[in-house]
Amino acid sequence: MVLDTIVPISKLDEVTFNVYKDVAVNKRGSRKKILYSSDPKSRPIIYSNLYRKIEQKYRIYELRTNSLELLMEDTFLDEEKEALQHCYSSSSKALSELKEKIIQSQSKFYQSKCAYCGIDSISCMDHYVPKEKFPEYSIHPYNLIPSCETCNTKKGKLFLQSNGTRYIFNPYFEKEENKVFNLKMNYLSKNNSFSFYIELNSEKYNKHVEILNIIKRYNVEAINIFDNLKTEVLSSFSAHSSMYSSLTMYEKNFRKEIKKSRDRKLNERGTNSIDFLVYDCFLMSEYCNVKFLIEKFGGSCEKQELENLLTR
Ligand SMILES: [Zn+2]
Repeated sequence: MVLDTIVPISKLDEVTFNVYKDVAVNKRGSRKKILYSSDPKSRPIIYSNLYRKIEQKYRIYELRTNSLELLMEDTFLDEEKEALQHCYSSSSKALSELKEKIIQSQSKFYQSKCAYCGIDSISCMDHYVPKEKFPEYSIHPYNLIPSCETCNTKKGKLFLQSNGTRYIFNPYFEKEENKVFNLKMNYLSKNNSFSFYIELNSEKYNKHVEILNIIKRYNVEAINIFDNLKTEVLSSFSAHSSMYSSLTMYEKNFRKEIKKSRDRKLNERGTNSIDFLVYDCFLMSEYCNVKFLIEKFGGSCEKQELENLLTR
């Protein structure tokens, strides 16, 4: 993906506040007093004011998942803020289990790839709503997005633009079904290579794409994806071309296979994933032509096999 949806953990696990409770109850000393209770052994437990407040805050987040820009920043005492942020910054069994569960809840592709860019591997959890402004959501399961280092760093503390809209698309609660990128590929005879031209055709994602540097990163990735595709085309030709009676028959099957791969990328990674976009662009282009690819990129063996096929 980019602009596709990953799954919020709540679909599997109803009570998000249990995570807070588990983390808070295992804190020690003054942090436990602030986050949980000053007398945890009392029955019934007398919870701290902050505990009650966070319970409410969690409900608000869950009611606002489609309009998180409406969340109001609250004020906290310094020690409250510190204790809330400590829930995330300090490791705990509950937090590790939560992170693991968030990742395991995703499709195979998003178990390893960043939900913002779909390019790089997950290296951290990004706080969709920045924990510096909203410490109450530092361990809210909906607020933790499996992210790569690049996206996490580029997004930083950004949340709202001056007009009140969000900078970054939310992969848990938004999904873009339409293709919002245009791709064009060109063969450069001078260096016997391809270049891609990628543009965004939807203003809605201007900021997201600009901040995460998606166009430039897609461009680099497009070339890698296409290089791999080309290698596969050549090795598949070497392995299977002898089974065909003509180049036309081979081409027909070749296009069918590329279409299958493209559709698989679409299902696994989404309409705006760079993998799908490259396969789709290739399929629609004049370069989706075995003869052309072998003539330009094939080795002597492939060229000989092409010759054989043409004279068969
Ligand atoms: Zn990323």
